[in-house]
Amino acid sequence: MQVVSTIAEVRTARPQWPTLGLVPTMGYLHAGHISLVERARAECGAVAVSIFVNPTQFGPNEDLASYPRDLERDLAMLRDAGCDLVWTPGVTEMYPPGFSTYVEVENVTAVLEGAKRPGHFRGVATVVTKLFNVVQPTRAYFGQKDAQQTVVIRRMVADLALPVDVVIAPTVREPDGLALSSRNTYLAPDERQAATVLSRALFAARERWRSGERSAAALRQLMQSILAAEPLAQVEYVSAAHPDTLAELETIDASGALLSMAVRIGRTRLIDNVVLDPAE
Ligand code: AMP
Repeated sequence: MQVVSTIAEVRTARPQWPTLGLVPTMGYLHAGHISLVERARAECGAVAVSIFVNPTQFGPNEDLASYPRDLERDLAMLRDAGCDLVWTPGVTEMYPPGFSTYVEVENVTAVLEGAKRPGHFRGVATVVTKLFNVVQPTRAYFGQKDAQQTVVIRRMVADLALPVDVVIAPTVREPDGLALSSRNTYLAPDERQAATVLSRALFAARERWRSGERSAAALRQLMQSILAAEPLAQVEYVSAAHPDTLAELETIDASGALLSMAVRIGRTRLIDNVVLDPAE
């Protein structure tokens, strides 16, 4: 496994692999990240992972400074997972002095996470474009855990004809339903217990839909009522939206829906989602 930090080193290494899968991450890896590496390994000749805590996707009052980091542990996990290349750029490699160019995806970034975290997806779209330009992956792997991010990236890749296949892999969860997240490390034991409320609300709504409920408002209401029963939970939003446009729905039809939420448990902001797919 090669571990490099500069753009020049990535460009030197790249030609040895005819097909390369890229897994972009912010590090502090867990089984969700590793599932993406394994998927990439199964589908590509080689796998590259980037580890970069991207400052431009954090708001001024967010957790950039405290975001968890453990490079040695990450590298050991990636070695075990059979990763070929790890790229750990520094901030000035990605944002050299005078940096002035950003990628803006409109419409699908105006709601949900985009509404609560202004500038977040501009940072994501910009850094992912640069990662793609440097690594030139055949395929790039993203987790369903960040549902709106998958919509934004797919939109951007289609709109700009970026020469990469985007692959979305399922959310990996703890046995009690909590979606794996690097930020789960912030949770105190009582908060960790309370954090199961997100998946409980989402799974209950999915069951209600499977039983025939088609009113999006009824599903939002069900999720809200389950969240309201958890004293440590502060709801930011609860959504039942069109899976591609992210517009809030009245009725769930043959297009299905994305049920998603952002909830604060104490000082930790968690997001989670499930897709209602009529083809399932
Ligand atoms: P992050 O390091 O949080 O930026 O995540 C890097 C990639 O891993 C993103 O594509 C995430 O959607 C994905 N990811 C994070 N958590 C999970 C999870 N629990 N299951 C599947 N993918 C995940």
